[in-house]
Amino acid sequence: MVDDGLLVDGLVWLPDPQQTFVKGHIIETISDGKQVKVRPENSPETPIILDVDKIERCNPPQFDKCEDMASMTYLSEPSVVNNLMLRYKEDSIYTCSGLFLVAVNPYKELDIYDKSYVSMYKNFKPDKDVSSEKDQKLTSRKPHIFAISEEAFQNLITDGKDQSILVTGESGAGKTETTKKVIQYLLAVVSTDNSNSTHSSFESQILEANPILESFGNAQTVKNINSSRFGKFIKIHIQHSTRRLVGAHIDWYLLEKSRVVLQDKKERNYHVFYQFLKGASESELKKLKLIRSFQHYGYLKDTNHAVAGINDKEEYSKLQKALEVMKFSKEEKGHIFKIIAIILHLGNLTFKNRGKDDSQAQFSDDAPINTVSELLGVSENELRTALLTSRVKAGRELVTQQRTASQAKFTVDALSKSLYERLFQFLANKINDNFNSNSLLSIEAQNFVGILDIAGFEIFDRNSFEQLCINYTNEKLQQFFNHHMFVLEQSEYLREGISWNYVDFGHELKPTIELIEGTSSNKIGIFSLLNEECVVPKGSDASFLEKLHRELDSKTNQNSRYKPSKLRDAFVVQHYAGTVEYSVDGWLDKNKDPLSNTLVEILSGSKDAFVKGLFDASIETDLTNSPVKGGQRRGGRFRTVAQRHKEQLNDLMSQLSATHPHFVRCILPNTNKMPGEFDKRLVLEQLRCNGVLEGIRIARSGYPNRIEFDQFAETYWLLAKSTVSSRSLRRRSKDTCEIILKDLHLNPDVYKIGTTKLFFRNGVLAKLEKEKTRR
Ligand code: ATP
Ligand code: MG
Repeated sequence: MVDDGLLVDGLVWLPDPQQTFVKGHIIETISDGKQVKVRPENSPETPIILDVDKIERCNPPQFDKCEDMASMTYLSEPSVVNNLMLRYKEDSIYTCSGLFLVAVNPYKELDIYDKSYVSMYKNFKPDKDVSSEKDQKLTSRKPHIFAISEEAFQNLITDGKDQSILVTGESGAGKTETTKKVIQYLLAVVSTDNSNSTHSSFESQILEANPILESFGNAQTVKNINSSRFGKFIKIHIQHSTRRLVGAHIDWYLLEKSRVVLQDKKERNYHVFYQFLKGASESELKKLKLIRSFQHYGYLKDTNHAVAGINDKEEYSKLQKALEVMKFSKEEKGHIFKIIAIILHLGNLTFKNRGKDDSQAQFSDDAPINTVSELLGVSENELRTALLTSRVKAGRELVTQQRTASQAKFTVDALSKSLYERLFQFLANKINDNFNSNSLLSIEAQNFVGILDIAGFEIFDRNSFEQLCINYTNEKLQQFFNHHMFVLEQSEYLREGISWNYVDFGHELKPTIELIEGTSSNKIGIFSLLNEECVVPKGSDASFLEKLHRELDSKTNQNSRYKPSKLRDAFVVQHYAGTVEYSVDGWLDKNKDPLSNTLVEILSGSKDAFVKGLFDASIETDLTNSPVKGGQRRGGRFRTVAQRHKEQLNDLMSQLSATHPHFVRCILPNTNKMPGEFDKRLVLEQLRCNGVLEGIRIARSGYPNRIEFDQFAETYWLLAKSTVSSRSLRRRSKDTCEIILKDLHLNPDVYKIGTTKLFFRNGVLAKLEKEKTRR
């Protein structure tokens, strides 16, 4: 922190090991101003000496609990966290920070989402004389998710431009709840035509898509009893001339299918398995050869069965209602739960080794394979052979090889995961088809508000391929934010006739993004090397890592964001949000996502039309679920998870780039799911990862404090009393401001004069405030 004599007596933030930071009073500056002697408020009798750059100025009291942190004079980590905490303690969970709406999870029901709140935010018009988007936010009513939803809705109506609301945050921070609030608001403000029953049924379909996606895509985890294990982008289409709801569409990303076959001790499989076993009738279970016991099923037995706050039976009824509203036929429902049953039976297939070297897989028990083949509608013999043996190329010939017990189990798990993902794809497609059949998308002049609910940046003790995919996504989203901020700032400076070379901080993220996806000229990146290793003979996780080090190590190459790890099986990537070590164990399998060709052949020849449909090459989609533009399906061609994700993400980014974006950052206040508890360090870490502090850093590099001429003249004329006549003050014009500024002897670098307002560097207005109180 750089400052001057005003520091003495000043109130500052000091780092504190227990409380993250505490307030303190400066007693004196020492060492030529490089250090300060401070009296901490929590131990006033023991003053401490600190380097100046370890302390941060506190904001003047008028900024306590401020609604937009961008307006604070001192934009520092402690001020931001402290402000969020003070507000959280009084249930003000929403706070603006420049372009971000920060939402801290209240972990309790707040009375702020009912109809009266909808009407409070509906049709809200910002002050007419406020020109910039940023300032409009400052003058709008209290920060709220409805305020940002209304802003998106109004922009859609007035500009006829697609809007997006990007909601990110860590697991349990409240993204999905926030997304639901946005949809609730939009459905409440679109024009309703009560005489049109299609319309109201369409609204309920949009609402009922959620229970379906949550049953199949959410699970109880340590962090969140209803954790979404996939990302989604929901578009609500609205005709801007009539404000009518005309359509909807859902895209989904990165479903965590490994959970189907393996879960952490304290977690569960996907909700639907428990809901079905609890809620289905005896006869339904009997038909599918199931019994009502979680303990009986390999994929469920080691999981947490009873979770406080989850009533599986009730949720099953809600799921049934949602499927009904979404017009799933009785047959379709039968097919869906049959797949769930097949997966449960597949989890009960166990193997033991026999034969030569005790290395040939045999079924430990014949009953489940019997049931599985019957339910799948395939020949038991063929299925047995496909699970117990593999066909590998030896020269030009295909030879049959016995699998070991663990290889056979791996093959079964791959089948379960694949079935589950295909089922999820089917559900999402069916929901979208339904939206389409009801929609009026063909009508002209319609736009969408797209809401993105996707996991934020992840740094765990052990990070794998999944984390790289999600962190890569967040890197792209942050680049998108930085670039958007650049465009807005640039246009504000242009509008105000200010010459200032604003930096596009989006460029800063480029090396990391290119490290992962490759550059446009040289395609080599982590993904391409991984893909390559998946197809070369004898490729392994170890040979992949070797290749990474050889091609990407910053010591030998240009890219400074990559480093080999000190651990043997890992590499390190420097992301904008922090440095992450990725362990490469299992990456080739995760990326290939292998399902043997023989199994696909068998299943696509199933007697059961639904199973056949899920695997049939002619209709096999590439699972990217990106909108399929005429004839662009890549059915059949082998594509890796990394390839699919990169393409999906690029598709998402190009959709987002064509929208006017709005940014919501959800914050987890504590890891105990407790209302009222605010863990400062946990919040600070999230603010560092989610771009809020980055946004502040960017803002600080420019002239973040802005004040209109008349307001400036009125507030600070006292400081220049000698030269400002009362007549010129009455005009409060640019000239008056120039007189005051001259009289203040400010360094010309700390301010800029626009056509309607003054722009100040961070902290300058605070000094003027301090001066004012001295006079
Ligand atoms: P994940 O990444 O695991 O899906 P998430 O960010 O989507 O997490 P949510 O499922 O939206 O998190 O929220 C977790 C829980 O926090 C909710 O089940 C709910 O109990 C509580 N919660 C979140 N937001 C709110 C809110 N605005 N009001 C009341 N409770 C909330
Ligand atoms: Mg969620």
